[in-house]
Amino acid sequence: MDNYIVSARKYRPMTFSSVVGQEALTTTLKNAVKSGKLAHAYLFCGPRGVGKTTCARIFAKTINCEHITADGEACNECGSCKSFNDGRSMNIFELDAASNNSVENIKTLMEQTQIPPQTGRYKVFIIDEVHMLSTAAFNAFLKTLEEPPAHVIFILATTEKHKILPTILSRCQIYDFERMTVPKIIDHLKMVAERENIAYEEEALSVIAEKADGGMRDALSIFDQVASYCQGNITFQKVLEDLNVLAADNYFRIVDLALENKVSDIMVLLNSIIAKGFDAGHLINGLASHVRNVMMANDPQTLPLLEVSQQQRQKYQEQAQKCPKRFLYRALKIMNECDVNYRQSSNKRLLVELTLIRVAQITQPADDDADGAGRSPKRLKILFKNIKKSQPKPAQQVAGVEKKETVAATATPTVATQPSTPQPTDAPQRPSKEIASVTKSSTPRIKLKNIGTTFSSLRQGPKQPAYLVAQQAGTKTAADSNKEFTEEQLSIQWTLMCNRMPQHLVGLASRLKNIMPHIVDYPNIEVVIDNEILLSQVNDIKGNIEATMKKTLGNDQITLSLKLADIDSSRKAYTKRELFDELRRKNPAIEKLRLKLGLELA
Ligand SMILES: [Zn+2]
Repeated sequence: MDNYIVSARKYRPMTFSSVVGQEALTTTLKNAVKSGKLAHAYLFCGPRGVGKTTCARIFAKTINCEHITADGEACNECGSCKSFNDGRSMNIFELDAASNNSVENIKTLMEQTQIPPQTGRYKVFIIDEVHMLSTAAFNAFLKTLEEPPAHVIFILATTEKHKILPTILSRCQIYDFERMTVPKIIDHLKMVAERENIAYEEEALSVIAEKADGGMRDALSIFDQVASYCQGNITFQKVLEDLNVLAADNYFRIVDLALENKVSDIMVLLNSIIAKGFDAGHLINGLASHVRNVMMANDPQTLPLLEVSQQQRQKYQEQAQKCPKRFLYRALKIMNECDVNYRQSSNKRLLVELTLIRVAQITQPADDDADGAGRSPKRLKILFKNIKKSQPKPAQQVAGVEKKETVAATATPTVATQPSTPQPTDAPQRPSKEIASVTKSSTPRIKLKNIGTTFSSLRQGPKQPAYLVAQQAGTKTAADSNKEFTEEQLSIQWTLMCNRMPQHLVGLASRLKNIMPHIVDYPNIEVVIDNEILLSQVNDIKGNIEATMKKTLGNDQITLSLKLADIDSSRKAYTKRELFDELRRKNPAIEKLRLKLGLELA
């Protein structure tokens, strides 16, 4: 483990042809190298982790190579190539504008452009996240960009092209990098897994690829994580567990059940999903993108838009053939409404349940009032509207409803296959006081009698089958809630938690990943944070973090304390450059010495 290198670095491409997923673009670059027609400035745009910086580095290496191959690739053998590969070339300068965006940073860099390269032909200046440069820095840079020395090539990279000033855009050759498709990521992960001798299930890699959302770097770092969690055998089940992803099978099943109008079965499934710790709101979002996929699979024209593995694609196509288009449109609309109302809903679970019920009733014939079955959807819709209106009701009543649910949960499950079929004797016999009070107080127009059977089926929904209740109780009490844990387990679970954090917390998650918690006064976990803003952000989700740690480490005694770092003592220099910056901050003479000797910063 001593010389463990993360896969994203270990398998970073060395030549244009090994860059994954950007064939058109790398071919153009190769041709430019071959023909020697090089521009002075290039702009690489595209989402994060798709190979912009990698391509910039390969480009810098290739144009300085002493024996370019006939194909326009670097030889990787000459002195220049070797110095590039070892990271000690004097002809490449990289500036991350996200953290060094001041005028001084740019001015220092621009000074370098005036000195011709001692070996090789070109000095290449890579400015990453160029849109982050301050206005003053931009202007300082523009001066050089307008009249660059012949030996200088700029490669600017950005994730946000629209933020680049037109004056810069007009002086650059622009290359748009594409998101990586799921199949391409899967292929690459397979290659890495094979080289690392890691066994895998293809479906598991597919989950990783989908989670990476178009970024190869993310895919590889998730892969590393999963590989260590699975200890060399990446299985589908373990990946789902590790990444906290709900298996797509659940979505397929919900749609199948909805097509058959099996409301109760869906409620049972929903309950088991929630019992596993998944958020009901995420379930609806996941289901919505699933239905969107089914819709894409429905039409050969949109089939290519479906970004899933080959196996999955077939499953989608099969389901698409069963789904009437009307069902798909309506379902998307209903789920979208749920999404809109979700935040302000005070009983989110009920909202999700009602949403699923509505989805399950789309295909139910509406005009067969004669036999009674058709009436229930209409009634339910009325109920739904009224309950939605009554959302901002006193909290205790909601609590009452929930309490009732858990009490009811102990009852034997009666899973009706046609829950919406009226059973007129049912409802009046067991009126629920709590639910009645909700409807009475806020929507006097609803009469329990009128709601009748739909209402009882509604109540039946969240009922849990006995085995589930047992299971749930089991997870709370039987699972030893006082497991011992080590610093190492803590740091693994911490990283896993960061990876699982929801999309809107991605920024925070990636910063948290760089902070390692420590056990201070077991089982108290201390997290030292070096920045007040971050501290307050973390503080907002402290409860969630603590709960996650308790759960994942299996110890209920865990407490979490956050601490603001004493900057001088705890902020460690991580790279040589940071170490140097720190030295020079402490002792300005060092910087003077550097300037005197004309030393460059790598
Ligand atoms: Zn070479």
